[in-house]
Amino acid sequence: MADTSGIRKFKDADDFRRNVIVRSEIDKYLPGGKHFIDEAEIVRCIAEVAEKPADPVLVREILAKSESTRETLTPAETAVLMSAAKDPALFAEMKAAALRIKKAVYDNRIVVFAPLYVSNLCVNGCRYCGFREGNAEQKRRVLTMDELREELDVLAGRIGHKRLIAVYGEHPTTSTEYIAETIETCYGHYVPAPRSGAKNAIRRVNVNAAPLPVADLKVLRSVGIGTFQVFQETYNRKLYEEMHPAWSPKGNYDWRVTCFHRCLEAGVDDVGLGVLYGLCDWRFELLATVMHARDLERWFNIGPHTLSFPRLEPASGTKVPEESPWLIDDATFEKIVTIARLSVPYTGIIITARESPESRNRLIDGGMTQLDCSSNIAIKGYSDFADEAHQEKDRQQFMLGDNRSLDEMVRYLASRGTITSFCTAGYRCGRTGGCIMDALKTGREGKFCKINAVLTFREWLDDFASDETRKVGEALIEKELAGIREWLPKFYPTVLKQYEATCRGERDLFF
Ligand code: SAM
Ligand code: SF4
Repeated sequence: MADTSGIRKFKDADDFRRNVIVRSEIDKYLPGGKHFIDEAEIVRCIAEVAEKPADPVLVREILAKSESTRETLTPAETAVLMSAAKDPALFAEMKAAALRIKKAVYDNRIVVFAPLYVSNLCVNGCRYCGFREGNAEQKRRVLTMDELREELDVLAGRIGHKRLIAVYGEHPTTSTEYIAETIETCYGHYVPAPRSGAKNAIRRVNVNAAPLPVADLKVLRSVGIGTFQVFQETYNRKLYEEMHPAWSPKGNYDWRVTCFHRCLEAGVDDVGLGVLYGLCDWRFELLATVMHARDLERWFNIGPHTLSFPRLEPASGTKVPEESPWLIDDATFEKIVTIARLSVPYTGIIITARESPESRNRLIDGGMTQLDCSSNIAIKGYSDFADEAHQEKDRQQFMLGDNRSLDEMVRYLASRGTITSFCTAGYRCGRTGGCIMDALKTGREGKFCKINAVLTFREWLDDFASDETRKVGEALIEKELAGIREWLPKFYPTVLKQYEATCRGERDLFF
C-alpha cells in the first residue's frame, strides 16, 4: 500500500474545489511573472510567415537540423514548417524527413495500449466533455477494486494488453489515494492467457488525470506510475477560460500548464503533453506545445515522453464538438502530426481510436508511434459488453472512430511490415526521463526496443493471436530476427536464447 500520509485530504467536493490548487507550486515555475507560453511571440511567429511563401533553402536547413540533432526546434523554425506545409512539394519533403526520423528513432515498431476509464465523477465544467458536472445525460460511476479486476480479466486475460492509460475525472472521491490503489491493483492482478495458460498482467499503467501537487505526484511515483498525461486542451488563455469555468479547478490555466514541471520535480519523469485539437487555431497550439517542451527541457533537461493529438469528438449533452469554429479536417491533422514529429523529433506520438481507421492508417507512416485498439471507453465497458466494439453515448466521454480489435490491428500492422510492440521494459529498467531522451536521440534505445519488441510480440502471438494473425506475425518475426542477427552478430546468441525461452513459455523476458 502506498504511503499517503503526506498528502492533503478534502472534506467534500466544495472543499476540494476551493483548496486543491497550491499557488506556490505555480509561482515557482513562472519566476518574475514571466510565462513560458509567450502568446505575443506565438502571434508574432505566425504573422511573420503568414503572407510570404516559405523559402525552400531555409525549410531544408530546418529539416536537416531536426534530422541530424533530433533536438526540439524553436517556435520560429516550427512556424516556417507550418508555412511550408501549404506547398505540396515542400510538404512531401517534410513527410519524407518525418518518416526518416521516425524510422531512425523508433524503427518499424508501434506500441499498443488500451484506455481504461476508471471514474467519471467530476467537479469541473469543461464545455466539450460528457463527464462535466451537471450533465444529467451522463451515468456516473467509480470502479471498485473488484470491478477493476473484472476489467483487467478482459484486458490482460482475454485481449492481451500489457499497457494501459487509466483515465479519471477530477473529484475527491477519486483522490490520489484512490488512483494509487488502482495502479497497484492493475500491477497485482494476474490472469491466465486463453491459448497458453501463461499468467499475464498489466505491466505499465500510464495515467490521464487532473494536475496534482508535488506531494501527490510522489505517491504515484512510489507505486510505479508510467507516463502522467495531462492535456492542456488549449494553450490560448482566452479560449481556455471560455471552455473551463472559473468556479472549477480546471478553470486555472496556470495550475494545469505547470503540472509537468511539478511531475519532473517529483521524479515522475515520463510526461505526456497534449492539446484537444478543434478548440483553437492549430498553429497557435503547435507553437505553444514547442514552447512548453522547451521550457521543460530548460528546467529539467527532459522533454515530453509523448505528445497526444486528441481531436474534438461528439459527446453527450454538448454541441461544442460540432460547433467550434476551429474544427480541423484530416488533411490538416496530417500536417499537424508531421510538423510535430519534425519539431520534437525524439518524442513518442500517440494517435487514439478517436480517429477513423483511414486517418490512423495514414499516420502510421507519418509520426505515430503509439495507438490503442480493442478500446472501450465506457466505464466498466470491457466486462459489461461482450462485443468489444459496443458503444453507449451516455456511458462514455465521447464516441470512438476506430473500433478495430487488437488482433485485427496486429495483423494489419504486420502485413505492412510493422511490428506491434508490447514492450514495457524501459521504465522498469530505469530508462525514463532524461536517460530515455538521450537514448532516443542517439538511437541507442532502438536496440533494446527492437529486441524487446520481438520477445513481447512472440509472447502475444502464442498467448492471444488468432491462427491467421499468428501466421502473418511469425513471418514478420523471422525477418526481424534475421535483421538482428545481421545488425548485432555478437549479441545475437544471447537474444536467441531469450527468444527460445519465450517460445517454451517463459514470460516477461527483456533487455
Ligand atoms: N479529467 C482529467 C482532465 O480533464 O485532465 C483527465 C481525464 S479527461 C477524461 C481526458 C481528456 O479527454 C481531456 O483532457 C480532453 O482532452 C479529452 N476530451 C474531453 N472531451 C472530449 C471530446 N468531446 N472529444 C475528444 N476528447 C475529449
Ligand atoms: Fe472532467 Fe476531464 Fe471531462 Fe473536464 S475533461 S469535465 S476535467 S473529465
